[in-house]
Amino acid sequence: MISVENLTKSFQHNGSTVRALDGVSMEVNPGSVVGVVGPSGAGKSTLARCIALLEKPDSGAIRVDGTDLVSLDGKALRAARRQIGVVPQGDSLLRQRTAAGNVALPLEAAGIGGPQRRQRVGELLDLVGLTDKASVHPDQLSGGQRQRIAVARALAAKPSVLLADEPTSALDPTTTDSVLTVLDRARAELGVTVLVVTHDMAVVRKLADDVAVLEDGQVVEQGKVLDLVAEPASRISGTLLPETD
Ligand code: ATP
Ligand code: MG
Repeated sequence: MISVENLTKSFQHNGSTVRALDGVSMEVNPGSVVGVVGPSGAGKSTLARCIALLEKPDSGAIRVDGTDLVSLDGKALRAARRQIGVVPQGDSLLRQRTAAGNVALPLEAAGIGGPQRRQRVGELLDLVGLTDKASVHPDQLSGGQRQRIAVARALAAKPSVLLADEPTSALDPTTTDSVLTVLDRARAELGVTVLVVTHDMAVVRKLADDVAVLEDGQVVEQGKVLDLVAEPASRISGTLLPETD
């Protein structure tokens, strides 16, 4: 269980203070997919970056099996970071590297080389269905294929948590589905816990078990997607209902 407890994070901007996170608490069940939704500026990316240990909250705790990750530093912090794979927002692949070269990056960083690295890269390309694109550069891949490579790269070091910030923005529905399939495989076949930040309610409906709705740095609603679809209590969860089609 990952429990996020009362996280706060403020930024100074042009002499004023922005409270990006204003007491955020949520629980993430291991092996589940959790969607984080909310309007622009609600604090979604800040929350994701705090959970990925890329940003330090001003206060609060992120407990995994009782250990507070926020209080870690040095070697222990680096080890905890390796447990979390991140698919950053936007195009994040290195253009000068092939698809396989991008997937290999975290393995190189971890000092894994030779046949072991080649085998692992092969498994990951297979997982995301892009074995035939191994030696292709990102500019020859479609947007959805690039995102699937980014997911493969995030999974390379065998994290227990995968965090994806808007992995399907700017993708059409069919391409979106191909990325969701890959995220679902990560959960189903690797047992990875998936946290997905998205503005697309269809993504939440199709992929997530649970959802947290953020507004102005606060969780205004959270629960099972099915419950929220059946009984939406906020303006945002109201939009979880599929459009009539
Ligand atoms: P979007 O849907 O547009 O990506 P978001 O929900 O991800 O929005 P955040 O990026 O978490 O929102 O930002 C939350 C608030 O914190 C915003 O008001 C933003 O301007 C502010 N903020 C975030 N990062 C910084 C920063 N590094 N410096 C100053 N302000 C920041
Ligand atoms: Mg964001």
